[in-house]
This record gives sequence, structure tokens and C-alpha cells, in this order.
Amino acid sequence: MKDVSPHLKLTCRSCGKQTPLKDLKYGPNRQDLHCSMCLQKTSPLPKVEQKIKRKINKEGYTCKKCNYKFSLKINSSTIIKCPYCGREDYLQKDGEFTTERILREVSERDV
Ligand SMILES: [Zn+2]
Ligand SMILES: [Zn+2]
Repeated sequence: MKDVSPHLKLTCRSCGKQTPLKDLKYGPNRQDLHCSMCLQKTSPLPKVEQKIKRKINKEGYTCKKCNYKFSLKINSSTIIKCPYCGREDYLQKDGEFTTERILREVSERDV
């Protein structure tokens, strides 16, 4: 297989200029060839992609039931439970004492 000759020239559909094939690219309709100059002019591709950085909250927890320390990546749908014993109601967030929450959840579960 031989590559298409780089010296082959085709007409740009936008400016009508004879342009080396390697500098030609298909336009948005995928049929017409345009030179890179025209493509830059007509359809400026956003060079800077907006990267949406998702902030991953990693939080440390300690399971008071089995004393297992772990950390979780927290998002809105995360169910926080101990990976060791599977309990959700004995967890203490690291650096934060959440006795009240734990007690409330325990009592709710016991009802
Ligand atoms: Zn052109
Ligand atoms: Zn546990």
C-alpha cells in the first residue's frame, strides 16, 4: 500500500486555492475539503477544553464497632458504611466527633 502522494494538490472548497492534500481536511459536512487556513477561520475549534474538575471528597472514617479505619470517596450517592463489618451506624468521621448522629441513627434503627 502506497500512501497518497503528498504532492497531490486539490482545490479548497472555501478559498479555491490549490492546496497540498496533507493540508486539506474535511469540513463539518464531511464531504468538502478545506485547507487548514480556511478551517481555522470558518470553524474555530475550541482549543481550550473546559475541564470540569470534579472535586472528590475523600473522608476518613473509623468504625466504632470493629475499630476499622477506612476512607471513602464521598459523593451524593455514597452510602457510608464500614467495609469490614458493613455497619453504617457505628461510623465516626475522622477529626469530627459525631456521637449525636451515631446515637440518633442507632435509635432509629432499633425502633
Ligand atoms: Zn482554503
Ligand atoms: Zn466495622
